[in-house]
Amino acid sequence: MDSSFEDFCLSLPKIELHAHLNGSLSDKILPLLGCPYSDICNYQKLRNIPIGQRNLENVFKTFAIAHKATSSSQTVYLATLNLIKEFAADNVIYLELRTTPRNEEGMSAENYIESVIKAIQDSTNRILVKLILSLNRQHSLEECTNNLNLILKKQSEYPDIIKGIDLSGNPIHGSFHDLKHLFERGRNNNLFTTIHCGEVVNSKEIHEILEFRPERIGHACYLHPNYNGCIQNWNLLKELRLPTEICLTSNIVTGTVDIYENHHVQEWIKDNLPFSLNTDDKGIFNTSLSQEFQIAKKFFKFSAPDLWKISMNSIEDSFANAEEKIYLKMKLEDWKFKNYKFFSQ
Ligand code: 5GP
Repeated sequence: MDSSFEDFCLSLPKIELHAHLNGSLSDKILPLLGCPYSDICNYQKLRNIPIGQRNLENVFKTFAIAHKATSSSQTVYLATLNLIKEFAADNVIYLELRTTPRNEEGMSAENYIESVIKAIQDSTNRILVKLILSLNRQHSLEECTNNLNLILKKQSEYPDIIKGIDLSGNPIHGSFHDLKHLFERGRNNNLFTTIHCGEVVNSKEIHEILEFRPERIGHACYLHPNYNGCIQNWNLLKELRLPTEICLTSNIVTGTVDIYENHHVQEWIKDNLPFSLNTDDKGIFNTSLSQEFQIAKKFFKFSAPDLWKISMNSIEDSFANAEEKIYLKMKLEDWKFKNYKFFSQ
């Protein structure tokens, strides 16, 4: 990779819209939380699994390591604080962090949310951070309902930080259908919604998610007819123009895409549909947002102005308020003005 392009990707102010807290914890953060060396080695092993043997199950098992390391209010706080620092060092100027509230011995789900929020408030880095709270499709309806009740309570206390809800968790289990009413309730209470969609082949569920019209969808690996999806869903997406959170490396490591050259984002590019570039679980997948931008340039021939535009468009797709969006857009314009060398080549 050309080093001036690496510099461009690192220096470009970036917008991260799809990052799970626990999956984002790096090898540098885990030891600070007291995570044993053997666990860190297991965490790293995932990256070395040969392509044909990669699957979502392996990745979902790996989350347990990070969850063990963040099982107290103190470690959740430290993890969040250090994670924000890492994103800021990568010149991410706006971060939407998402996480699933958890009850652990000595830490309630409410303590968990409070610890994440305290870290966001205490963070001294030049980065704007918002929180998306996740419902896990593997959990029972009762657990998801309790989780949403808690999220709504905390949202009323921290409306400037808690901006949305997400549906995540192992897509092989559970269904959007059973939890749809909770997302409707969230929406009616001023929460934005983003839904993991099409990580496994399931056109019926994808259709139901699109019909719900969340503000954004995540991944969308199997939505287009060339990727085991169907034309009705693709036409619906084209009509609705829901922004898609693309996570290139994540899809390779989880085995939903075999090689970057075959990534479904190419259909979004062809049809000029809105998308953002994201890391998903940068700790587990050993990536950074700068690296994702470099990969996008390498495999999909994006130019510097194209990547700048992706950052700019992601601001519009974010859950920031109108004033925050203006501030972020000004930052990006200002950066372009000062770094014209990248645009004049
Ligand atoms: P946490 O919510 O504990 O901060 O982050 C880890 C959790 O995020 C995982 O247990 C899983 O529920 C969710 N997650 C992380 N990456 C993915 C992904 O690629 N797909 C889906 N569906 N869920 C994910």
